[in-house]
Amino acid sequence: MHPKLIELEKQFNPSILTQVFTPLLARKKIELWVKRDDLIHPIISGNKWRKLKYILNHALILNAHTLVSMGGAYSNHCHALAFAGKQLNLTTKVFIRGEKPKDLNPTLKDILDWGMKLTFISRSEYKGLRYYKKHNELPCLKKGEYWLPEGGSTKLALHGVGEIIHEIGVEYDFLCVPCGTGTTLAGLVNSISGHSQVIGFSALKGANFLVDDVGIMIGKDKSKRVNWSIELDYHFGGFAKYNNDLLLFIEDFNKRHNIEIEPVYTGKMFYGLFDLIQQDYFKPRQKIVAIHTGGLQGNR
Ligand SMILES: *Cc1c(COP(=O)(O)O)cnc(C)c1O
Repeated sequence: MHPKLIELEKQFNPSILTQVFTPLLARKKIELWVKRDDLIHPIISGNKWRKLKYILNHALILNAHTLVSMGGAYSNHCHALAFAGKQLNLTTKVFIRGEKPKDLNPTLKDILDWGMKLTFISRSEYKGLRYYKKHNELPCLKKGEYWLPEGGSTKLALHGVGEIIHEIGVEYDFLCVPCGTGTTLAGLVNSISGHSQVIGFSALKGANFLVDDVGIMIGKDKSKRVNWSIELDYHFGGFAKYNNDLLLFIEDFNKRHNIEIEPVYTGKMFYGLFDLIQQDYFKPRQKIVAIHTGGLQGNR
């Protein structure tokens, strides 16, 4: 590990496991634990750090002076990258999807404050950038610039996510995780062992492509999908869409467990998970660990 990365890692807290209790869980005899990656850092959101860690290390080892990436106007990835870049004394630049809004949202304000350079691009140009995956692949890169694809979805990201598995000190049958690009899910699937299975909950509508994308990331034919699956029906109308049902669920969850969740990712996962428990998807005495991937900055 690069010494600058070891230094940055000192800012992080351990990610604890919290058991939660509800009448439904008691009735169905299901044990549910939450892996609190939301608590590892006050600013760098849980799974964004897991994904960035070894990418940043690689960039530092290559002596890069600038990190270049892409994201939406509320991107947790860009937010985490801007902060990490500032801590590491690296220049950061991102392409943001869509027109520059008149009033900047809190995410964009933060990242500008941390010195990130923003370039607003059209949706079609943005789509074009998705083609470039490797750190040196983006055509306009200058010497010393390091490219991170959308959401930081690379092999190095999978390695960082895999560390979550080694930290879980209880036995479990299922791991649950919210999905955007599916990178976090793929990293978990790659590192999980034994009989345990991973269930992803898509935050996007019509996300059938995730099954192929995750299959490619884990380097296995999707027909060999034995220990993972993706729930596609808990998107609430699409990415960052929600309804009253979801908001009431989140409010109740926050109060009951004193664990904050948000409507884009973790709220949809927990809603879906409790729905599956209600429908007897799980057997009595099975144990579930749900990964709280953070993302609370987007709540503002
Ligand atoms: C980005 C994000 C995800 C999605 O992660 P992927 O690896 O893209 O699937 C899930 N939860 C939170 C809180 C996020 O910020």
